[in-house]
Amino acid sequence: MKKDELIKLIKQEKESKNIKILAHTYQSPDIIELADVTGDSYMLAKAAQKLDCETVLMCGVRFMAETVKILSPKKRVLLSAAGATCPMALQIEPQRVLEFKKEHPEYAVCAYINTTAELKAVSDVCVTSSSAVRIIERMEAKSILFIPDKNLGRYVKSKVPGKSFAFFDGCCPVHDSVTADDVVRAKHEHPGALFAVHPECRPEVTAMANFVGSTSAIIDYILSTDRDVIIGTERGVADYLKAKHPQRGLYRLREDLLVCRDMKMTTLQEVYSALISGEVIEMDEELRLKAKRPLDSMLKYGG
Ligand code: SF4
Repeated sequence: MKKDELIKLIKQEKESKNIKILAHTYQSPDIIELADVTGDSYMLAKAAQKLDCETVLMCGVRFMAETVKILSPKKRVLLSAAGATCPMALQIEPQRVLEFKKEHPEYAVCAYINTTAELKAVSDVCVTSSSAVRIIERMEAKSILFIPDKNLGRYVKSKVPGKSFAFFDGCCPVHDSVTADDVVRAKHEHPGALFAVHPECRPEVTAMANFVGSTSAIIDYILSTDRDVIIGTERGVADYLKAKHPQRGLYRLREDLLVCRDMKMTTLQEVYSALISGEVIEMDEELRLKAKRPLDSMLKYGG
């Protein structure tokens, strides 16, 4: 089927069923154009609470659909591509966290929002990449187990020197694949360009950046300057911004890097199929309430 026809069918289907589409910023520009709300995972989950509809379709990965369900239990939450998971969200077993807590009761467990509901359920507080520093500064606990992303955890540690941190060996395989050599090469190819990077990258990479921030913060940073920018996060952000601002000098860090395979599982065909008979996210109420607790704590600390 031609792309235009598929887009027309998607619009008809979502309108006739009053399904709102949530699209993560890493989705392709075609999907973002169809979305009712675009943003990062927590922003999408918060926005879904206010949407006047019974059903939402999450174009992203599984933990994002779960987070929507945790905050909006009465909504029917569909996932755009059933196989789309976040590899990082699956790297740590909840049992490992429980064992750590038993051995080190003085540690508070701080979970990046990119975690499964099961992992949230054994954590004390959730953070996003934009709120992590602020929340950990405000927490009473002096010792923090930061899961699952050791790179983001190390970045936060560098900004909160008064607390002690423990990490497991988790990371985002997409952002962790960037090396300092990649940055040197990109800066050489685009002299004078600023470099903006996500804190899921390695410390030696974030140390070379003019700006370190979440996906939304990177977008705001790029829109706040006229200068050329090398973009060090998933390529969807660069593709989106380049499509919106074709005259700007915006460069992907490396053409073949920073592609999240799971995020790219959502195609227009997947969106259409999901609107007709997509996977509905189901969650046991006991698990949902346990997983909601660290999200509530995040709000308490100003997340
Ligand atoms: S970009 Fe990294 S953190 Fe985001 S969904 Fe993909 S693997 Fe997970």
